Amino acid sequence: MPEFSLIEAFRRRALAREDVPLGIGDDAALFDPPAGERLALAVDTLVEGVHFNRGLPPASIGWKALAVNLSDLAAMGATPALALLALTLPAEDPRFVEELATGFAALADSHRVALAGGDTTRGPLALSVTVVGHVPKDLALRRSGARPGDDVWVSGSLGDAAGALALWKAGTPMLRVGPLRQRLDRPTPRLGAGQALRGLATACIDISDGFLADLGHLLAASGVGAEVEVEALPASTDLREAFPDPVARRALQLSGGDDYELCFTAPPSERAAVERLSGRLALPLSRVGRITAGASLRLLDADGLPLPLPERRGYVHFAEDGA
Ligand code: ADP
Ligand code: MG
Repeated sequence: MPEFSLIEAFRRRALAREDVPLGIGDDAALFDPPAGERLALAVDTLVEGVHFNRGLPPASIGWKALAVNLSDLAAMGATPALALLALTLPAEDPRFVEELATGFAALADSHRVALAGGDTTRGPLALSVTVVGHVPKDLALRRSGARPGDDVWVSGSLGDAAGALALWKAGTPMLRVGPLRQRLDRPTPRLGAGQALRGLATACIDISDGFLADLGHLLAASGVGAEVEVEALPASTDLREAFPDPVARRALQLSGGDDYELCFTAPPSERAAVERLSGRLALPLSRVGRITAGASLRLLDADGLPLPLPERRGYVHFAEDGA
């Protein structure tokens, strides 16, 4: 497949936007950002064998490469507009490319993201996606705004993707990993939630490396600590069914990776507003703890007694631990 038709596979599916007057085909894309707003920019790379394995269908690889980037914009409260895709491919494989482009376009279309350019090279399979969005000046959500007394909230459910990965590592055929697999293969960036949290949340981060690890980043940036009630961490029905042992399940929720949920803080005076938002978005938003003065992160059981922090707070890529 010559490079041209490879690019064509993506160009054919790229959405047109009035504020992107020039996309794929020239030396650079052009974008008219909305007046009075700031650009929000993020880039993330997925490498085969590190961020995903060969069991991941090409369409899901395309989806996920964009999803992890849109999740970063969601965490900032930004609205995405366009994306650039730097693609490294091992060999000519038209079918693979068509499927990759289809998965990428499916998510791009659902959030009106225009694929406006990219780069194509030969090498081990890797996708580096740059996303460009915008956010009203001074309303971007940051990691640094949490204050003692704020509530800690989490969107959706935690541990599903890590649960799917654990099942796969244990030798369960991917087809039988079941509904959890969707959370690993096709994460949902919480863009609507991020945008609605502007002016409501005091701090926000997306959970990509594990809840404790990412909450830790938010706490460090804000110069505060937190108490987390582990029983309040949201678990899906699928996760409860696949991992009935609460200890195993909790480890996935606390330290698993690839959740792409939002963790945010808001003052207790905003509880009703956050709950209304949850209803409006049809997205569970769970209050899981509170921000404290000082720098410590403490886990509490249902009786309010301290639990030990797990040794492993974040996701360790499967290729690194030899699985
Ligand atoms: P240049 O050499 O000037 O960087 P290229 O020949 O690499 O241009 O790319 C031609 C056009 O196709 C450019 O507009 C570029 O942004 C776009 N493009 C290249 N690879 C991709 C890709 N994988 N996905 C989307 N657009 C791409
Ligand atoms: Mg050029």
